[in-house]
Amino acid sequence: MSTLNLKAPAKVNYLLDVIRRRPDGYHELRMIMQRVNLCDDITLTLTESPGITVTCGKKGVPDGPGNIAWKAARVMLDLSGCGRGASIDITKNIPVAAGLGGGSSDAASVLTGMNQLLELNLSDQRLMEIGVTLGADVPFFIFARTALAEGIGEELRAMPEMPKAWILLVNPGVHVSTAWVYQNLRLTNEKVLAKVPEFFRTVEDVAALFSNDLESVTISAFPVIDEIKGRMLQLGAVGSMMSGSGPTVFGVFRTRAEAENACSEIARGTEWFTAVAETF
Ligand code: ATP
Repeated sequence: MSTLNLKAPAKVNYLLDVIRRRPDGYHELRMIMQRVNLCDDITLTLTESPGITVTCGKKGVPDGPGNIAWKAARVMLDLSGCGRGASIDITKNIPVAAGLGGGSSDAASVLTGMNQLLELNLSDQRLMEIGVTLGADVPFFIFARTALAEGIGEELRAMPEMPKAWILLVNPGVHVSTAWVYQNLRLTNEKVLAKVPEFFRTVEDVAALFSNDLESVTISAFPVIDEIKGRMLQLGAVGSMMSGSGPTVFGVFRTRAEAENACSEIARGTEWFTAVAETF
């Protein structure tokens, strides 16, 4: 078979510590990353003719070589040396440049999909090594478990089992530049890292982790993020925080009904992106 239909899920950060700036400009991080079942849909086809096409049609997402999914396909075709090509059709359900890792997830799906279609039999470890050359969050989506991520995000360890939770995602649609956020982050010399617990029994245990060093920077420019957090907590969220460098805010709820109720309350009268998803 030369076509695969792939689901590329979003992530949220339960924890995001920025430890230091490395001499090469990257930041050393400690993150807890959790997948949620809001997914982009990708149709990946191996073609006889060389060349790669990406069709997406979403504003802000490049169709050609600028698309990270294109780069993922290129590297796998080059490794195979087979002279064939690929066509990639992406339906973006994950908001773009939102702190939800959508592009990285698309790239990870294309790497694993091409590995299968080209019968390369590369290990997940090898795919993760290729993935980090495309983007720091790509290895996490290949790892495919809730993870403690260190380094620039590529040193991954599986987290102990965590309770499932209903997640409300709200993206107010303001434009946040990740580079700007890091430039405006003030790092202290001696950052004391909170200990990561070894057991999580309840969603309250999960929410007790919530901390994101980037949040105050993004909120200083976009106070709406703090307003959304406050609304989520008023409407029954066990915890609420910004994901990545934002602007998406997520809330953790005990039940789907509570998450959906908060979703309709918060969405009312706005044009914000909202979705209720489940962790997996
Ligand atoms: P991160 O949290 O890793 O910074 P993000 O979720 O904030 O990621 P993405 O949605 O991955 O951001 O998009 C970041 C940029 O990458 C966008 O500005 C977009 O132009 C570009 N891009 C390239 N390919 C894709 C893709 N397949 N999906 C989304 N964005 C893409």
